[in-house]
Amino acid sequence: MASRRNFIEKLTVSAIGLPLAFNATGLFAASDRPYQGKTLRVAIMGLGSYGTRVAKAMKDCKRAKLVGVISGTPSKVETWQKEYGIPNKNCYNYENFDEIKNNPDIDAVYVITPNGLHCEQTIRVAKAGKHVICEKPMGINAEEGQKMVDACKAANVKLLIGYRMHYEPNTVAVIRMRKDGEFGKPKFFQGQSGFVIGDPTQWRLNKKLAGGGAMMDIGIYSINGARYMLGEEPVWVTAQETKTDTEKFKEGVDETIQFQMGFPSGAVANCLSTYAMNNLDRFFMTGSKGWMEMRPSTGYGPIKGRTHKGELDQPHTTHQTLQMDGMAELIFEGKQPIVPVNGEEGVKDMKIIDAIYEAVKSGSKVSLN
Ligand code: NAD
Repeated sequence: MASRRNFIEKLTVSAIGLPLAFNATGLFAASDRPYQGKTLRVAIMGLGSYGTRVAKAMKDCKRAKLVGVISGTPSKVETWQKEYGIPNKNCYNYENFDEIKNNPDIDAVYVITPNGLHCEQTIRVAKAGKHVICEKPMGINAEEGQKMVDACKAANVKLLIGYRMHYEPNTVAVIRMRKDGEFGKPKFFQGQSGFVIGDPTQWRLNKKLAGGGAMMDIGIYSINGARYMLGEEPVWVTAQETKTDTEKFKEGVDETIQFQMGFPSGAVANCLSTYAMNNLDRFFMTGSKGWMEMRPSTGYGPIKGRTHKGELDQPHTTHQTLQMDGMAELIFEGKQPIVPVNGEEGVKDMKIIDAIYEAVKSGSKVSLN
C-alpha cells in the first residue's frame, strides 16, 4: 500500500509538476492545485474595523490580493503597509484618490467607509476607471444606489455590493434546496436581526453618516434574507417603530422597527430590526413541504441551522475570503453567485428600506410597484 502511494505521489508530481493532495475519498482534490489565473488587485478604502477584517480574510484568498489603501490617517497607512507589504505608490488619501486612475497595479477599490459616504466615493472610483466593491448598505437611499449603478455603467466598471452571505456555504445550501423545491411553496419567512449598540457618539448613530439606524446596518440582513430565501421580490411593506431612548436614537435614527413584507405568491415575511436587543440573528422559513431555521444566520459564523431534512453541515470558511475570491471570479470570468451581488441587487434592498421608513411615518401599507 505504502509503495503504491509513493508511486502515485511521484507519478502525480512528475506528470504535471504540481503538488496535489489526497482528499478523504483517496481522490486528488482539484482545489488544492495552486491558482494560476488572474488575481484581483484590490485597494481598501476605510481602514476601520470591517476593513481590517476583510484585509485579514484576504490573506487566504487565491484569486484576490490586497495591494493598496485609501485612508485619512497616515499612521494607519503605515501600519497596513508593513502588515501587507503595500508600496507607497499604492497609498492614497480621501483628497487624492482620483489619481488611482493612473495606477495600473490596482483593479478594484473596496469602499468600507460610513454609509453616507459610499455614493460619492463609489462614483469617484468609477470615474477613475476602477471596479467598485461597496459595503452594504450601498448608500443611504435608492436614489443614491441608482446613481451609483448608473455611474459604474457609464464608466464601464463593475459595481458589486459586499453581500458576503451570498457566498456562505450553508446559506447557499438552503437557497439550493428552495430552488429544488424541497420546501414546496415557500409561505412564511421570519428574520430577526439586531444587537445592542454601544458608544452613542459613533457614526452609526449619526443620521448624516449612517442614513438611518439599525435598519441600514443590521435590518438590511433580514430584508435581503427574506428575498433570497423566498426567491421573490416583495410588493408591499408595513412597518412599526419603537423608540425607548430618544437621546441615543435621535430623529431619523431608528432603534427598533418591526416590518412585514408581502410577496406576489402570497408568501409573507415578518421581521425585526433593532439596536436595542441582543441574541437576534435568526432566520426561519416554512413552505408547503418543509422548513428551515438558521441561528446564527448572518453573523460571521460558523452559520448553523437545520431543515426538515436535518442539520446544515457545510464546513465554515471565513466569509470574506469566499466573498473576495468569488468576486474576483465574477469580475474576470463572469461567474455569478447563486444570488446576485451587483449594484442592482443593492438598489432592490434600498427601495425596500425607503418603503419601510415611509410606512413607519405614514402608518400605512406601502406598495413597492
Ligand atoms: P468603522 O467606524 O470601524 O470604520 C469606518 C472607517 O471609515 C474608519 O477607518 C474611518 O476612519 C473611515 N472614515 C472615513 N471618513 C469618515 C468619516 N467622515 N467619519 C467616520 N469615519 C470615516 O466602521 P465599520 O464597522 O468598518 O463599517 C464600515 C462599513 O462597512 C459600513 O458601511 C458598514 O455597514 C459596513 N460593514 C459591513 C459588514 C459586513 O458584514 N458586510 C460588517 C461591518 C460593517
